[in-house]
Amino acid sequence: MLACVSSATLTGALGQSVSVEVHVSNGLPGFTIVGLPDAAVRESRDRVRAALLSSGLPWPLRRVTVNLAPSGVRKGGAGLDLAVAVGVLVATGQLPPDCANELAFCGELGLNGSLRHVPGMIALADATAPLELVVPLCDVREASLVRGEAAHGVSSLAELAQILRSRGEWPAIPPAPSSALPPDLPDLADVRGQPFGRHALEVAAAGRHHLLMVGPPGSGKTMLAERLPGLLPPLTPEESLMVTRVHSAAGRPLPDGVLVSHPPFRAPHHSASLVALIGGGSWSLRPGEISLATHGVLFLDEMGEFPVAALEALRQPLEEGVIRVSRAGGTVAFPAQFLLAAAMNPCPCGEGVFDGACRCTDADRARYTRRLSAPLLDRFDLVVPLARPDPEQLLADVPGEATAVSAARVADARARAAARGAGGTSEPPLHPKAAGLLAAKLRQGALTARGLHKVARVARTVADLVGAEQVDEEHISDALCLRTARTVVNR
Ligand SMILES: [Zn+2]
Repeated sequence: MLACVSSATLTGALGQSVSVEVHVSNGLPGFTIVGLPDAAVRESRDRVRAALLSSGLPWPLRRVTVNLAPSGVRKGGAGLDLAVAVGVLVATGQLPPDCANELAFCGELGLNGSLRHVPGMIALADATAPLELVVPLCDVREASLVRGEAAHGVSSLAELAQILRSRGEWPAIPPAPSSALPPDLPDLADVRGQPFGRHALEVAAAGRHHLLMVGPPGSGKTMLAERLPGLLPPLTPEESLMVTRVHSAAGRPLPDGVLVSHPPFRAPHHSASLVALIGGGSWSLRPGEISLATHGVLFLDEMGEFPVAALEALRQPLEEGVIRVSRAGGTVAFPAQFLLAAAMNPCPCGEGVFDGACRCTDADRARYTRRLSAPLLDRFDLVVPLARPDPEQLLADVPGEATAVSAARVADARARAAARGAGGTSEPPLHPKAAGLLAAKLRQGALTARGLHKVARVARTVADLVGAEQVDEEHISDALCLRTARTVVNR
């Protein structure tokens, strides 16, 4: 008469274990579901009933009450369907009473009794440990990333009922497709000219420096930014699992091999809502674009067009590497460790002050750049001016340097920095002339104390990229060049 089946629900990027209690009693036929269900969970009644009937299993013409415990946690999505169905089958004696004791179930039911994909399977699988977990066959490789042999996949409710009744063997986990090709990333060879933009990109990738590109339309800002993920090293296994976890919780399609192995690139439009950007939602809390960009690149094109609230929301993740989202459904922290790349026109007309064709008034320009607060602007180590490439460079049919060549230099530079970090001397020596140049800039008022520190950091990356042991004057001048556009956007 009473059955208790384990399952899990998704809150943010984390799973929460749920106990599904099903009580079947005499009385007027009916179905009640309690325990803070959302609309999708409430509708499970119709799906479960149709799925049972389609699978040749009778639906009880009695009173069915389903309680989802703990009652204080909101339950969302259709992933509880399978646990409710198993509970009904056990409570009505169609399955042996102890068959589901050591198991947890997560899956959405189709009306024909098939099992369907549920988002966030990695988090759900975590939450159901140490019980063995039964999921739709299409989700089993995702679940087995964290649960290994304890994850089982079935394709239909009828198949599951058969296995539980006869204590049969679970179907084998389908192997990963061997042709898991790397994604077709855009290559730097397609970019004509722009030596300075390419250099800035390389420095950003090598030293994890946030990059703001300022230039008129047609200067190739977007093209360059799209090629930044190709310069980053492939994800480590831990990074890969974290990125996959976030993408899974957001309901994003995962690659064929299930694990996301390359740094993601996210480029939200400036009209995207704050929730889409930072995550949340009124009921179920979902990761937003900045979390999907974790261990990859977040690109804000036309940064001057983003609402001030969206730009200010970036400050916390840029400092802490996480974003905390509070909603009626509770507060959750999402990972948000990304490399920020942004692009903007120097002024509303786009022509800027570089080549003197600007038609804007000073007031127009001030209004345009006011959206960028000084603290946000301070997060960018690199603020580079870009001009349109020469027509000659555009017309010359000479391909640019390929991504692979540039990425190799980035990998070398990162290895050098890592070796220094391991040796305990993270600061390479500063050549006396380099120190003198920095001191002079500070005295002239061209640099603040904070700016000085940033220039020194960028100069170190520049030195690492050319394999220099010491940071000298040339590297400092290069680092100073890589922030010259600050005067345009900081007024
Ligand atoms: Zn203008």
